[in-house]
Amino acid sequence: MEENNSPRGQFFVAPPMTAPVLPWRPEYGGIEDSGQTVDIGGGVHVYSSPDYALDVNSVFVLTSDGVVVLDSQLLPRHAETVIREIQARTDQPIRYVSNSHHHPDHTFGNPVFLEQGAELVSSYFTARMIDGSAFWYLMFLSGMWGEHLPSAYAVPRQTFVRSRELWVGRTAVQLFEFTDSTTVAGESVDVTMAWIPHARVLHVADVVWPGAHTFFADGTSVPDWFIQLGHLRELIKDLSPRVIVPGHGAPGDVGMIDAQERYLLSVARMVEDYCRGGEAPLTDDDKVKLRQDIINEFPQYRNHIPLDISLQLLQMLGPVAFLIGRPDGATAARLPTFL
Ligand SMILES: [Zn+2]
Repeated sequence: MEENNSPRGQFFVAPPMTAPVLPWRPEYGGIEDSGQTVDIGGGVHVYSSPDYALDVNSVFVLTSDGVVVLDSQLLPRHAETVIREIQARTDQPIRYVSNSHHHPDHTFGNPVFLEQGAELVSSYFTARMIDGSAFWYLMFLSGMWGEHLPSAYAVPRQTFVRSRELWVGRTAVQLFEFTDSTTVAGESVDVTMAWIPHARVLHVADVVWPGAHTFFADGTSVPDWFIQLGHLRELIKDLSPRVIVPGHGAPGDVGMIDAQERYLLSVARMVEDYCRGGEAPLTDDDKVKLRQDIINEFPQYRNHIPLDISLQLLQMLGPVAFLIGRPDGATAARLPTFL
């Protein structure tokens, strides 16, 4: 038995931070790292930020009547990079920026795009989640990225429930809620995916993270996440996308779902072992061992910061951060049927 007064985790203090939230590691890279853009055809490009900024994908759809962007990056400097990459390819204005979910790595770049005259769009649920959580994320993350973070956040005013088509000229980008306020969490409680019909590109937000360590501690229910992956498989069968773009990691095909299932199964099993099925808190020593076990199991995987934030939250919050059973009365994500 542990002593009653033994610390159950670490806490952090409000800004200015007296200590970093996480110790920095060389594999995270640095602020000068620049990321890269790939052309996936049909006028669709994907900019991926460096691991230092979580390898977040911003998709941009170029048309002769304007540009649509999916996800706005964590740090303003990478939002500015996305804008430069767009301006290097077109003179057209950025019409819309859609947020796939409320997490800061997909929304904190919003003010930069707003300044460019873009309209911010998200589900109503995501907009409310951004409004309710951005301040707390800013506090938490300032212990990591400090002055590199934005000084303000922006909430989409153009909101929708279930689905919305963004038209630029004759090109449509179809947004649809994959999970909403009635479902429990996979990677996030809110997920909006995007289908770009003319290019046959499907953006699946953070439901899959191919080749990358996954953030898994936002009240994540592993069984629910598996249901989502099953639904995604059906959706992919219906749409037969040419390219699937995840929220993090390289664009690819349906194989990324198998990889995500393997990752979640392994990590859930290891967490369960170390936390004795949720009975025991994650000690400092065990956290180090668990981290090493996960890295040994997936040695090629990049993007270590989400893993370290997940482990930190798991230690701070306990098993509620990562549910290996389903909460009573939980509603599984439903398969969208309106496409
Ligand atoms: Zn993300």
